[in-house]
Amino acid sequence: MEKALIASAQAMRAAGLNKGTAGNLSCRLVREGRDGFLITPTGMDYAALTPEDIPWVAVESGEFTGKRKPSSEWRFHRDLYAARPEVGAVLHAHSPFAVSLACLGRDIPPFHYMIARFGGDSIRCGDYALFGTQALSDAALAALKDRTACLLANHGMLVCGRDLKQALDLGVELESLCEQYWRASLLGEPRLLDAKEMTAVLEKFEGYGRQDEHDMKTGDKD
Ligand SMILES: [Zn+2]
Repeated sequence: MEKALIASAQAMRAAGLNKGTAGNLSCRLVREGRDGFLITPTGMDYAALTPEDIPWVAVESGEFTGKRKPSSEWRFHRDLYAARPEVGAVLHAHSPFAVSLACLGRDIPPFHYMIARFGGDSIRCGDYALFGTQALSDAALAALKDRTACLLANHGMLVCGRDLKQALDLGVELESLCEQYWRASLLGEPRLLDAKEMTAVLEKFEGYGRQDEHDMKTGDKD
């Protein structure tokens, strides 16, 4: 599992989601009957990571084991695993287009139907709070209510998925949507889909999920 986490963390870099040591990634892992998660360590280059560098954090207490300290943002990872049993992986990145929109402190409206892939008719922007704090975790979880992604004001993006692959796919999709919204906004005011149009998209995604989960997972890009 440590190797899968490292491979996915390195894939974040390859996908352009991260530079330097910003961002972090985790996946749920029950150990000896205790709910917990593996997470990238603080301040380490992903390219140099080995399985021994990956700490495990207990969901209940926040205590960790391993020789490296967990990412400074372990709190919102912990709080997400505690609050949402369906979440199996959490990704946080300072990707350029998501950060640019997060610095405007505004929700991303339904300018494109793929916004619905994240669970609703917008991607919310959580209130600003100091990195690594409980206040930031609280703001993040509020912005993620009924959603699988949010922006964090003046900071970056946060995405959760059922596993590492889905979290990475959603992170790439969100960064792409942020870029498209940014580009469209340069040319004018994007036409937004209305509530009825978005409800139809959400229902169609839900229908795909029931009939064949694979269709929902890959996101119907037609
Ligand atoms: Zn951050």
